[in-house]
Amino acid sequence: MKMQPASDPKKRKGLIIVHTGDGKGKSTAAYGLAIRAAGNKMKVFILQFMKGKWKTGERKSVESLSPWIEVEAIGDGFTWDTKNPEQDRRTAAKAWGIVEPRILSGDYQMVILDEINYVLDYGFLDKKVFLETLKNKPASVHVVCTGRNASKELIEMADLVTEMKCVKHPFGEQGIPAQKGIEF
Ligand code: ATP
Ligand code: MG
Repeated sequence: MKMQPASDPKKRKGLIIVHTGDGKGKSTAAYGLAIRAAGNKMKVFILQFMKGKWKTGERKSVESLSPWIEVEAIGDGFTWDTKNPEQDRRTAAKAWGIVEPRILSGDYQMVILDEINYVLDYGFLDKKVFLETLKNKPASVHVVCTGRNASKELIEMADLVTEMKCVKHPFGEQGIPAQKGIEF
């Protein structure tokens, strides 16, 4: 397929990108985009929504790309407690309070909402509020949403949707434990 670089600023368009599906590679592909953007001197903000999924390997690499990439993780300051949905909604609201102004400010050319699909799927964050923000984002901002079970509405609104399909995973029947550089 022929790639047409948008060198004309008028042709630049901030994309809504979704990585979903049950195969591995959704978050790592998003960090790949962050690295690519940072190499182009674009500012990237990453919010990691799920506790404990933010692994040391990518964290250290991404921190070394400061100031181009900034990261925050929910696991640092708050936790999910699925037995207490009220608490989880408050946690999601707090996370959204961090990231929404950064999407809308236009100060970042890429915002990665890692595992946001889970938060929406569990109903911790109001889907309508989320979709409204995407609708109102500055035209130049790319937003990347990862996680299984992306909503129909998000898929419809998005410009680029990739579904990772699991063909084989080492954790499955093979029972191979998590490997450094692959899982963390
Ligand atoms: P990665 O962060 O490696 O790109 P991911 O974002 O696609 O993975 P998540 O749904 O966020 O995957 O789940 C994270 C963890 O679950 C990882 O340790 C990943 O290897 C594991 N995982 C993903 N897909 C599968 C699968 N089909 N079977 C078993 N484990 C899986
Ligand atoms: Mg992931």
